[in-house]
Amino acid sequence: MDFIFKEEHKMLREMVREFVDKEIKPIARKIDDDMKIPPELLQKAKELGLFGVALPQEYGGAGMGEVGYCVLLEELSHGCNSFAGVIGAHQGLGSMAINIAGTKQQKDKYLPILSAGEKMACYALSEPNAGSDAQNLQTTAEKKGDRWILNGQKVWITNADLADILIVYAANDKNLKAYGGITAFIVEKGFKGVKIGSNDDKMGLKAMHSPEVFLEDCEVPDENVLGNVGEGFKVAMYTLNVGRISLGAACIGTSKEVTDLSIKYSQQRVTFNTPIINHQAIQFMLAEMASLIYIMESIVYRTAYMFDHEQKVHREAAIVKSYCTEAVSKVIDHAIQIHGGMGYMKELPLERFYRDARVNRIFEGTNEIQKILIARDLAKKGCY
Ligand SMILES: Cc1cc2nc3c(=O)[nH]c(=O)nc-3n(C[C@H](O)[C@H](O)[C@H](O)COP(=O)(O)OP(=O)(O)OC[C@H]3O[C@@H](n4cnc5c(N)ncnc54)[C@H](O)[C@@H]3O)c2cc1C
Repeated sequence: MDFIFKEEHKMLREMVREFVDKEIKPIARKIDDDMKIPPELLQKAKELGLFGVALPQEYGGAGMGEVGYCVLLEELSHGCNSFAGVIGAHQGLGSMAINIAGTKQQKDKYLPILSAGEKMACYALSEPNAGSDAQNLQTTAEKKGDRWILNGQKVWITNADLADILIVYAANDKNLKAYGGITAFIVEKGFKGVKIGSNDDKMGLKAMHSPEVFLEDCEVPDENVLGNVGEGFKVAMYTLNVGRISLGAACIGTSKEVTDLSIKYSQQRVTFNTPIINHQAIQFMLAEMASLIYIMESIVYRTAYMFDHEQKVHREAAIVKSYCTEAVSKVIDHAIQIHGGMGYMKELPLERFYRDARVNRIFEGTNEIQKILIARDLAKKGCY
């Protein structure tokens, strides 16, 4: 992939790898058990500039684009998927929506503090009755003078507990739905009428919290409309492309980590007088793991490069999301099988990676929805 990575991307990779090896891997199990990311770890990540890798330099970011952002998430996902998820929801979803659709004034006001990690962001689209069918959202936005009044409930909003800035999608006209009926807003947690619910206990990603958000006559100034009134669905979907590509990158990092563990283990573990790597059944699993990683790397960085060169990647981001999230589950499953009973023990990180990976096929748009998006694009074009 060397033709895609610039010197700055290679330096970023080395820096994040060292951070993950020294600061994250030794405490990754504790993070999962405690269901909390230590604030000192977030502070160290801020000092390294990890909160603004993908954001433009003129707004305090590192300006490394989607390729750099994918390198970041790939490396973080060698250590702790919860930590990668927190950084991802802040940067690739919450902050990115402002970067994509914000006015110069909005970018000047919010992006420098978000790039520096002084404030954190989240992305609030999903609701109890609007997940896959996101345009069915029931949160309303009513214009009153120079303000908008938001009322509704959002569910599973990653970082809502940590975030100061919420990108909230609401219906300005329920009849129009995606075609003029949804507007995006930059909502500060301090605005009147914003309440955050409690954290859900879940199967994996335990230290990445995704609580409910309640908007009760929440007052948002007109200047905080993000993008044009009625065009919020476009903002939501375009931003999700960034998240979907980088989720693919996270799948690569975890896959490489568990494959390396599997190679080492299979060279050491002896059965029937020979290291298990000499058994063809183990070789076949390792070969499939390597093949899946190679394909993931190829499609993720190709698509990230296309995104950075302003090419349309709607279909490609959906392919990356669905393919890589299936692939990582397969790779981790093989890793556990190769480790035998040890693979099932908490002593190794495999069971945590296994639990964490399951949601990848559900959030950022389920894989069924990605397949619908891909097929719709094919039908629209009438050819590949
Ligand atoms: C840990 C976690 C973190 C999250 N973080 C965020 C966040 O930060 N911000 C945010 O806005 N949301 C977030 N979400 C919500 C997430 O995006 C939704 O869960 C997801 O979009 C699926 O919606 P749903 O859960 O309502 O499932 P549903 O939409 O109810 O789907 C149920 C099932 O039906 C299938 N299905 C639905 N419609 C169709 C169809 N037309 N054809 C075929 N199959 C279909 C789905 O694929 C799925 O298998 C998070 C969720 C989780 C679990």
